[in-house]
Amino acid sequence: MGKVLIIGAGGVATVAAHKIAQNPEVFTEIMIASRTKAKCDRLAADVEARTGYKGIRTAHVDADDVAQLVALFNDYRPDIVVNLALPYQDLTIMEACLQTGCNYLDTANYEPKDEAHFEYSWQWAYRERFEKAGLTAILGCGFDPGVTSIFTAYAAKHHFSELQYLDIVDCNAGDHHKAFATNFNPEINIREITQKGLYWEDGKWVETEPLEIHKDLTYPEIGPRDSYLLHHEEIESLVINYPTIRRARFWMTFGQQYLKHLEVIQNIGMSRIDEIEYEAPLADTSTSKLLNTPTVKVKIVPLQFLKAVLPNPQDLGENYEGQTSIGCRIRGIGNDGKEHTYYVYNNCSHRAAYEETGMQGVSYTTGVPAMIGAMMFLTGQWVKPGVHNVEEFDPDPFMEQLNKQGLPWHELHDIDLEL
Ligand code: NDP
Repeated sequence: MGKVLIIGAGGVATVAAHKIAQNPEVFTEIMIASRTKAKCDRLAADVEARTGYKGIRTAHVDADDVAQLVALFNDYRPDIVVNLALPYQDLTIMEACLQTGCNYLDTANYEPKDEAHFEYSWQWAYRERFEKAGLTAILGCGFDPGVTSIFTAYAAKHHFSELQYLDIVDCNAGDHHKAFATNFNPEINIREITQKGLYWEDGKWVETEPLEIHKDLTYPEIGPRDSYLLHHEEIESLVINYPTIRRARFWMTFGQQYLKHLEVIQNIGMSRIDEIEYEAPLADTSTSKLLNTPTVKVKIVPLQFLKAVLPNPQDLGENYEGQTSIGCRIRGIGNDGKEHTYYVYNNCSHRAAYEETGMQGVSYTTGVPAMIGAMMFLTGQWVKPGVHNVEEFDPDPFMEQLNKQGLPWHELHDIDLEL
């Protein structure tokens, strides 16, 4: 049915590539392009071995460079580009899509490298150009953002005449047996968690100190876990698309060990994203061994350096036990005019994700929805020129695919939401 180009070859791209190859009737041709071509080659070989798909192409591309992207897109002519690189590359990839007539999908909103701040305005600014070009851009099609927004759209379509209170709850009750590791790109993850908290109430944003508000919440098949209020990007579009929402918040669980490491990382300056000067020893060019003297002054960003020494999220899968549980807890007026509560969620086993794709549950819960979003576009069910958040599309065919593609969901009605 269509040609897909995946950009990135990390944890999320690995899962998406497996799931794309498992659906050859929709994805008739696949290319994986990223900064390090050797990683794309390894990934393509692994996917072909596990799924039996043949002929995955690979390429090198620096996705910060619009000219390189344009050359690649013109050469391969994909129907849709699935951006699974980092949030820094969103705008260059969207620009290249416009210049070459390609449709676009991503899982995280744009963030400038030099400022730990994310919001949709940068990408929403492309609306008119995508609309005029007759191209569809699907924003935030991972799990959160992504499935959480589709869960909300599904609740609005089938169960409520008025959504009033929305709490998105994200629990990772897995254990990877490392003292400290992040579940997706460490740089992006630590930038997100160390930001101030933000939630929507009575028509305005309320700011909190980082991780200031927390509550014990009980997760299905897991039990109670300390859950912290964070700013999360899907809230920004959901309160616009569902203006009856009076309060919208996002919660994520963290263990005490994780928080202790995070505190130390911050206190010693390793979460800084500005450049610092570092006096590095020179290496002997013939042996690559470090020399005691002389030295050379280099600029490094502490958080990028930290990423280089932390465990690679892609290597966590093998010993990862337990599961994730992510969902939406909603209160509002039902179709019968009475107040109702509703909880829709998915639980995902790290082990099952690893056995199927070689990656842990956090990459799995992001890569599967990215594939389904691309499938929705290629099957003509989510085609709408412009730049859209996922809740603007019909949730029903997507929800049906979640059950078929490894992320089954469950509903609870009229229960105590704890919030
Ligand atoms: P990784 O760091 O594992 O992978 C990122 C990939 O992008 C790497 O292969 C990297 O190349 C490549 N890349 C980075 N910069 C460039 C560039 N300039 N040009 C080309 N390729 C580049 O990250 P994850 O797989 O963990 O995360 C991928 C995305 O998914 C992120 O945007 C993240 O925010 C998002 N995400 C979304 C979630 C959701 O639920 N919505 C949840 C989790 C993640 P190299 O291999 O050479 O380093």
